[in-house]
Amino acid sequence: MALVDASLFASTDPVALQGSSCSACGTQVFPAQGSCPTCTSVSVSPVALPTEGTVWSWTTQHFAPKAPFRTDGFVPFSIGYVDLGPVIVEGWLLNKTDWHIGERVRLELAKAWTEDDGTVVHTYGFAATS
Ligand SMILES: [Zn+2]
Repeated sequence: MALVDASLFASTDPVALQGSSCSACGTQVFPAQGSCPTCTSVSVSPVALPTEGTVWSWTTQHFAPKAPFRTDGFVPFSIGYVDLGPVIVEGWLLNKTDWHIGERVRLELAKAWTEDDGTVVHTYGFAATS
């Protein structure tokens, strides 16, 4: 499967994002980093992040962003911060454009764009669970 950046994913089936966890202070971050932004320790290791959380904040984009943003055909879309528990992750909010803070969401693979050769490139996003 083509991905916008394979390093963002711990796995794609089932889908899970790859963060890093600090063994010194417990801080988790996404995307994974080689050192801890809280205590500067380099004792960090990859961790698969939780796949469900709640919308922490969101906005809806009503016009196409400039390149390098790519899509097959622009339609308004939502972007949000999702609280996964140990870390808050920014990403697409899928399938609708009206959200509520605290709304429960689940990680999914999402179609980002189609290459000229027909390859579909995927990224991650979050869909409402109900
Ligand atoms: Zn740390």
